[in-house]
Amino acid sequence: MMDTFIQISIYDQNRTIEELEQIVSAAFKRIEEVECITNNYDDSSFISLINREAGFKPITLEEVMQDLIVTSDSINKLSEGAFDITIESVKQLWNFSQENPRIPGDSILQQQLRWVGANHIKIHDNKIRFDSPEVKIDLGAIAKGYAIDQSIQVLNENGITDAMVNGGGDLRTLCSNLTNGKRSVWIKHPRKPGVLYGFFRMDEGSVATSGDYERYFIFDSIRYHHILDPKTGYPARECVSVTIQAPTATEADGLATAVFVLGPEHGLELINRLPDVEAIIIFERDGQLDWKASSGLKRKFKMS
Ligand code: ADP
Ligand code: MG
Repeated sequence: MMDTFIQISIYDQNRTIEELEQIVSAAFKRIEEVECITNNYDDSSFISLINREAGFKPITLEEVMQDLIVTSDSINKLSEGAFDITIESVKQLWNFSQENPRIPGDSILQQQLRWVGANHIKIHDNKIRFDSPEVKIDLGAIAKGYAIDQSIQVLNENGITDAMVNGGGDLRTLCSNLTNGKRSVWIKHPRKPGVLYGFFRMDEGSVATSGDYERYFIFDSIRYHHILDPKTGYPARECVSVTIQAPTATEADGLATAVFVLGPEHGLELINRLPDVEAIIIFERDGQLDWKASSGLKRKFKMS
């Protein structure tokens, strides 16, 4: 689901296996619903409808879309445009698969860049309107986090107090006495598959990582990956891996992408301003990997 494998773990001593299986199914079903709404590769999804029609007339948003667009708008403002869901019209020009890589020509890229910018979207009374049919949105940087939050909510509503929902490394946990003091978050080494870079302790919270090492190709010794700088339309260059810890997985996911584009210095400035949000940023200087952490994780992060 959501272009990855989602794992739901529950720790519980009071319910039968059958009851727990039902609760897990309901949580997975919620993720499926979010995916159906936000999947840009499915012509029948709500986001595809918005991308086809919002350039012609206002489209009424349902709840999931409303939530996602409002949160995206606030991360766009916080990051001064580094996070921007209108990146889609440029993203369409790229293909980051290793089998079939595509680098767009610069003139078409510059043309499409005109349709990137939060000012192209108007939200009014639950309705969304684009100022041109060329404007397109993509929620790939935040929808997985949102789906994880929604599934945690389903678990919570069913009385579950200890759980982890993990979507390819983006995750959220609930903690009770059963796991208290026992969880750590490990960060993958961005250049050595299968090797871990470091860890920090976390009982309850959310974590998401944006990296240049999952969806990328290399051409002429240059790495091209899927996190784009809305200013240039090209992959953001300053970071290698950004891990964010936040109260919700939606915030963690969105901010990981935003900080990746902002780079280590500006990114950390932003994170250190936000209460309850922390970051580990791995970057490359003179061919060497190095890391920086926000004030709350500096002493907690341990290299492996
Ligand atoms: P992952 O999908 O590996 O978890 P991210 O959460 O960083 O990684 O999301 C990357 C996706 O976000 C891209 O595939 C693209 O759909 C979208 N995206 C790329 N650049 C931006 C950006 N500057 N602002 C918002 N979304 C972006
Ligand atoms: Mg993200």
